[in-house]
Amino acid sequence: MSQSSGFSTRAVHAGQTPDQSTGAVIPPIHVTSTHMQDGIGGLRNGYEYGRAGNPTRTALEQQLAALEGASHAISFSSGLAAEDALLRGVLRPGDHVVIGNDVYGGTYRLLAKIFEAWGVAHTVVDLGNLRDVQGALRDETKVLWVETPSNPLMKITDIAELAEVGHAAGLVVVVDNTFATPALQQPLALGADVVVHSTTKYLGGHSDVIGGALVLNDDELHEKVRFMQFAAGAVSGPFDAYLTSRSIKTLDVRMERHSANAQKIAEFLEGRAGVERVYYPGLESHPGHALAASQMSRFGGMLSVALTGGEKAARRFAERLTVFTLAESLGGVESLVNYPSEMTHASVKGTALAVPENVVRLSVGIEDVDDLLADVDAALSRTAKKR
Ligand SMILES: *Cc1c(COP(=O)(O)O)cnc(C)c1O
Repeated sequence: MSQSSGFSTRAVHAGQTPDQSTGAVIPPIHVTSTHMQDGIGGLRNGYEYGRAGNPTRTALEQQLAALEGASHAISFSSGLAAEDALLRGVLRPGDHVVIGNDVYGGTYRLLAKIFEAWGVAHTVVDLGNLRDVQGALRDETKVLWVETPSNPLMKITDIAELAEVGHAAGLVVVVDNTFATPALQQPLALGADVVVHSTTKYLGGHSDVIGGALVLNDDELHEKVRFMQFAAGAVSGPFDAYLTSRSIKTLDVRMERHSANAQKIAEFLEGRAGVERVYYPGLESHPGHALAASQMSRFGGMLSVALTGGEKAARRFAERLTVFTLAESLGGVESLVNYPSEMTHASVKGTALAVPENVVRLSVGIEDVDDLLADVDAALSRTAKKR
């Protein structure tokens, strides 16, 4: 495999060289906390103690970096652990962060409830409004935090433009790429400094593992954040790293099906009785459609729908779906439905990031689309009748 190999070739092969001693096509899961030394300090391939490094984790990190043609990737025990290590690696008390107004609720909570108390301030802005972004910048601002498509309203922001604005002010520009994945969107190529993933979602892809990752090119920044992980300890375990590696191999084919299914469901919902608005960047009616088409290769598997019947109708619709399972999280092969204002986004109720109460979010899986459409149709009809 070479650097110029295609995306899926890299996804399947990077870091996944067959085992040297046995020829096992799949590299073994290295279940060990420590490594034998050949004399004091005589490390084999740099491995010493599992918090500093584990070969299964290294294999995943090589694979993650290869997905974006990046120099470095660091695998963490969760997406938020990755965010925490990045922020603590980069920021000091007195610093300031500018963050979008519909970023992942947990990212906002981390800044508002944890970092605030350690002397790091933040300003919430509409990332689609460059004047707002520029107006929020202070001398102490160190990080610009971008998420696109956003969660749950699927707002699209211009990564290349924000990277330019951020760099002009000397900021580290971070993009949370969890919704799009590197299969659909490559923020580093668009100018971002660091990509954050909750690998719990599409990269893991099967709703069976929690994990996170940072992907970046800058050597100095990489050293800082890797040291933070080593010193503070939020590493992924070998079994979790293995599961994530296994899943990444099918990422591109999964994203193709997720996107195709979501597009059909979005088109089906748009304009239907009981539906106020569909939030899906693949719809021409979506205000970010053209931008999404230019910076993403497909539109992904996430969509939200606002119902005309308000909170009641939204709750009913969410509870009446049967193929879609009512659960938090997203990005798995199975379709999930979530009622953001009481579930994933309960922590931002009453803040600038609050989600309208008539909105339901769908994570469209890879099932047969006809079954998904029938489920949505039935739930919507029954919701409308009950009113
Ligand atoms: C889930 C999620 C996170 C947090 O990841 P965890 O693995 O749950 O810690 C961050 N950003 C986005 C967009 C997410 O969906």
